Amino acid sequence: MGSFRLTKMSLRNLGRKPATRPYPQQPARYTPRTKGHIVNNIELCILCSICQKRCPATALTVNKAQGTWTINPFSCVQCGTCVRVCPKKSLRMQPEYTAAAAQMHDCTLVKPEPALDGERSLGSERPQRSERLPGSERPQRKPRPERPSRIGC
Ligand code: SF4
Ligand code: SF4
Repeated sequence: MGSFRLTKMSLRNLGRKPATRPYPQQPARYTPRTKGHIVNNIELCILCSICQKRCPATALTVNKAQGTWTINPFSCVQCGTCVRVCPKKSLRMQPEYTAAAAQMHDCTLVKPEPALDGERSLGSERPQRSERLPGSERPQRKPRPERPSRIGC
């Protein structure tokens, strides 16, 4: 490129606005087709692991014993396969990008535990232990594996 054309282009661009956005001061523009990132409604999730098996980027880990669903957002390629195969429709693509991070990290969601027998709602018709017939004692429940306390990303 000749120096004349280069000078002309430089002068013309001096009076123009920047071609890029000053992110994050000015948020990115999202369209309905922006793929963004994966969100899981953990209340609906049944920890079936289908999403983990079908993820081409091995970005998902489901641990049924611990009741956790984990995504590595830095491995996810936003292909949407997990959203399509989820039988409970608990996954969706949120059309926004995740916040910038200085270090790679996983995002773990913990499935809320169902209420134990002693936490049943009021009005339960279940007979008290003393009213049960002899020999109909229920076997002792196995202790549940300890679940991690971290919720969210
Ligand atoms: S496929 Fe859906 S229901 Fe099954 S573990 Fe994944 S998110 Fe949960
Ligand atoms: S969008 Fe694709 S790459 Fe990302 S977690 Fe789902 S299946 Fe894996």
